[in-house]
Amino acid sequence: MSGRNSIASSKRPVAEIALLFLALVLWSSLGLAPVDAAGEGSRREPKRVLLLHSFGRDFLPWSEYARSIKLKLEQGSPWLLDIQEHTLLTARLTRLDTEGPFVEYLRSIYQGRPPDIIMSVGGPAAGFVQRHRSDLFSDVPMVLTTVEERLIDRARLTEQDTVVSVRNDFVAAFRNVLQVLPETRTIALVIGASTLEKFWLDEVKKEVRPLEDRVSFVWYGDLPFDEILKRASSLSPNTALFWGLMSVDAAGAVHDGESALHRLRAVANAPIFCFEESFFGSDIVGGPMHSIPELGRKTAEAALRILGGEKPADVKIEPIEYAAPKYDWRELQRWGISESNLPEGSEVLFREPGVWEKYRWQVALIAAVILIQAGLISGLLHERSARRLAEVESRQRLAELAHVNRYSAVGELTASIAHELNQPLGSILTNTETAELMLKGSSPDLREIREILADIRRDDQRASEVIRRLRSVLKKAPFEVREIELKETVREVMGFVADVAVGRDIELSFYAPPEADLHVMGDPIQLQQVVLNLILNALDAISEAQAGKREVSVITARSGNFAEIRVGDTGAGIAVADLKTIFDPFFTTKPEGMGMGLAIVRTIVEAHHGTISAENQPFGGALFTVRLPLAS
Ligand code: ADP
Repeated sequence: MSGRNSIASSKRPVAEIALLFLALVLWSSLGLAPVDAAGEGSRREPKRVLLLHSFGRDFLPWSEYARSIKLKLEQGSPWLLDIQEHTLLTARLTRLDTEGPFVEYLRSIYQGRPPDIIMSVGGPAAGFVQRHRSDLFSDVPMVLTTVEERLIDRARLTEQDTVVSVRNDFVAAFRNVLQVLPETRTIALVIGASTLEKFWLDEVKKEVRPLEDRVSFVWYGDLPFDEILKRASSLSPNTALFWGLMSVDAAGAVHDGESALHRLRAVANAPIFCFEESFFGSDIVGGPMHSIPELGRKTAEAALRILGGEKPADVKIEPIEYAAPKYDWRELQRWGISESNLPEGSEVLFREPGVWEKYRWQVALIAAVILIQAGLISGLLHERSARRLAEVESRQRLAELAHVNRYSAVGELTASIAHELNQPLGSILTNTETAELMLKGSSPDLREIREILADIRRDDQRASEVIRRLRSVLKKAPFEVREIELKETVREVMGFVADVAVGRDIELSFYAPPEADLHVMGDPIQLQQVVLNLILNALDAISEAQAGKREVSVITARSGNFAEIRVGDTGAGIAVADLKTIFDPFFTTKPEGMGMGLAIVRTIVEAHHGTISAENQPFGGALFTVRLPLAS
């Protein structure tokens, strides 16, 4: 109270205080006692406001309206105020014959000193003060506030009464539900069972008739609140809940404050609507609602005018309609209600700050990290693709170089190839001539001619095979990896160089254990080139003049997860100093050598993820070992 007094008294004009001070000085100088002057006394005396609540001081929605009325009164009053609050507990009961003692109680409190103004808050309080107008200080002005139009008994209003009423438009409230949630098929009304609530249920039922072809209504007026909670948790789809009033439920349980609505919101599987702003802010979606500040302001204004001397009957306030619709953004999100469904002029409140507003720095940091990472990744990808390109290019070069090398290798074989071709071609010619001669005779021996033809065919096939091998080794093909059986690849080369070895009087042997599975991933032409180069070098290493064993042996074998090709010879071997440089490009000890053969061999082997090594054998001669990973 002290805070309130100081606010009101602080408004006292300075000039007034100065005059009072002057009067006091004059009176005291005349020897008169400073008696309580009439005007001053009435100003100092606080205005006594009897505020009568309907269900209790803390019952929503009235408690919020009362709070606003008191605040506006204190803000606007030039007088000290003494607001005395009472509660008409009988509103919670259905019987009216228990009101008498409460009237007596009030009369006895204010005996001899009636309040300056009576203010009733809510319908039941309005009904009470109207019913007992003559018993309750009939001369005292009265403001009936926070009351719906229909609850005012207009016929009973006196000259001393003012009404600040609201108008509940149920149809508009339900239309709002249908507008924001057009799929709604059912509206379930949550309402209590007190006299006031029963009255309203009947009113709603009457009013919503025009909507009944659009939506069906379910009334929870005769259910205990626990049962309402149960039903609200398993509503069929496209149902909306409407929070009417819940002061006293069908089981007689009293619900003040917001806890009942909180409980409903916690279990309900449908959105909750309501036209009372006091429930707005945590549990309801919103819509057109009565504005608490508007009612508080209008009521306080009316009361202050009356306290200032105006006749209550002359203070006329129009019934208060719903304010512009307001919605709770969080509930809109929760129920997936699009803002485009909201009526024009709506206000959306309680927007939660977006991730950006909430975590500005964190987001900026993460974005920076992502950007840097993206930069690194794209850099790495670029490098990878550049490396791939380089790899492809180098393979291309290798293939070209290897091709040139093959030409030169095959050049060395020209004599032997010519020999190999000449032999079958010569026999074909001889056999043809023989057959011709035989056919000229009177009775040619057809059986023999048939044998000659068979010989011709065999020689022709031999020549074709020589040409096929030659073509295959000279083929200019890109590096192409596939699964191959290494034994077969090597065997093909053996057939190719066999005659060269014979021509040089060197024994060429090939040993491939048949049980060893030597499947590798590789390019067959390039691997053949490896073997061809190694064999040609081995043949070269055995000079024409060399006496003793003249032998080149080729072995394929398995060693762990690798396939091995070993090419050994009985030549002069490699000088120890040259073992390190033997694979370098242009290293050669031959007068007409190019020194590229082994360099190409090593490049091909490494491109197959393999290794190659050279060593001297204990009994003389060199041994080259190629190791290639087996195909998994
Ligand atoms: P090129 O045959 O044109 O000389 P290579 O790269 O094939 O080129 O061989 C390089 C050198 O390695 C040869 O000149 C020779 O000195 C040596 N070499 C290669 N194979 C053998 C071998 N089986 N025995 C002895 N020396 C060899």
